[in-house]
Amino acid sequence: MTAEIQPVRGMNDVLPAEIPAWQHFEAVTRGLLDSYGYEEIRVPLLEQTQLFQRAIGEHTDVVGKEMYTFTDRGGESLTLRPEATAGVVRALISNGLLRGQRHKLWCLGPMFRHEAPQAGRYRQFWQVDVEAVGFAGPDADAELIAMSARLWQRLGIAAAVSLEVNSLGTPESRRAYRAKLVEHFAGHASRLDADSRRRLAGNPLRILDSKNPDMQELIRTAPRLTEHLDTESRAHFEGLCRMLDEVGVAYRINPRLVRGLDYYTRTVFEWTTAASSAQNAVCSGGRYDGLIAQLGGEPTPAVGFAMGVERLVALVVAAARSPPAARPDVFVVVSGPRAAAAALPIVERLRSERPQLRLELNLGGGNFKAQFRRADRSGARLALIIGDDELARGVLAMKPLREESGQSECPVGSVAAGVDAALAALASR
Ligand code: ATP
Ligand code: MG
Repeated sequence: MTAEIQPVRGMNDVLPAEIPAWQHFEAVTRGLLDSYGYEEIRVPLLEQTQLFQRAIGEHTDVVGKEMYTFTDRGGESLTLRPEATAGVVRALISNGLLRGQRHKLWCLGPMFRHEAPQAGRYRQFWQVDVEAVGFAGPDADAELIAMSARLWQRLGIAAAVSLEVNSLGTPESRRAYRAKLVEHFAGHASRLDADSRRRLAGNPLRILDSKNPDMQELIRTAPRLTEHLDTESRAHFEGLCRMLDEVGVAYRINPRLVRGLDYYTRTVFEWTTAASSAQNAVCSGGRYDGLIAQLGGEPTPAVGFAMGVERLVALVVAAARSPPAARPDVFVVVSGPRAAAAALPIVERLRSERPQLRLELNLGGGNFKAQFRRADRSGARLALIIGDDELARGVLAMKPLREESGQSECPVGSVAAGVDAALAALASR
């Protein structure tokens, strides 16, 4: 036998049994985004490597060690997108859509990061990305967060998630804070772990994000960013917190929340779940007022977030909120050579007359008993029987599959009306 081809590590198939939960999540999310006036945008999975280097920052884990980067046949360095914001911003610039315009956009699709695969952490994973471009005030941040809170309610998972917020200030106030932070950590260099020592030079704020228990004491005593904010960032943050209070979205201010991408300014936030201990972030975002100019667009403030679809779908399933798999309404059983020839045209005509009907035609023959077994397994409520004996009399037979009641018949010429009546009789019982 030829050797089986293995899937790529950390890349999952979403199987038909899991699809109802995914589609439910997507439909609820689409409906909500639409009601807030967000429009869908689809951007390529591949971008120039430089885009992510410039947007996300060389010293981040994502760019430093997680990107799928390769040289294509034309000799260009391309990267499979590790996140969506950079591509969406690039698309706005490339298509000349900025020009002082505002955009509320969302994008759904797979992202790619070469991480250590484990439950809830994959190398290909799906995100819903939401961006509000051209909005400077904290009202945009507050509305985005309120919208995400509403989404958890609609999905029935509000009890499983909680919100943390912080402000990273402006690049200037962050530079001043960064110096204070380096001073603090460098003063205790011997107590830093290897990761933190590496970050001290490139990205000292990320040390605050360390999960190493041995680092926590040093992190706890570090100067706090919230105490070093510039006046405007402070006002922005206070405005956001006040609006969240007013709409009743509960949050915790976490002065150590820094996020893993370099482009954030002012607001950052993260929804986490206590339901899984390790991979607990389900939705993360923040403001990126400098990014668009940094990528060559006209300076435009913006704020957005990304949700991890696998982690959210898992919460929806755990809350038993995912809908059951779809079943056919009618299973069509075929018996005899004349019926075999007549079945497809009859069923196709019925599909034209009743486009909403979920019809499954028995394909590939089989005896009567085997076909009824399939019909039972399909979960359909009604069997439509196309048989030679019935055709000779100009009729079709119908038999309820999930209850003990008698068979009925209808003329071949009025099968749609016959099926309507039989289904209506079942529904009324
Ligand atoms: P984490 O702290 O879990 O590494 P992150 O800070 O890297 O998350 P973001 O880059 O902000 O995450 O991405 C937004 C969301 O995408 C996360 O909140 C999470 O739900 C999801 N996500 C990120 N990385 C993965 C992954 N490797 N597998 C599955 N979901 C992921
Ligand atoms: Mg990560």
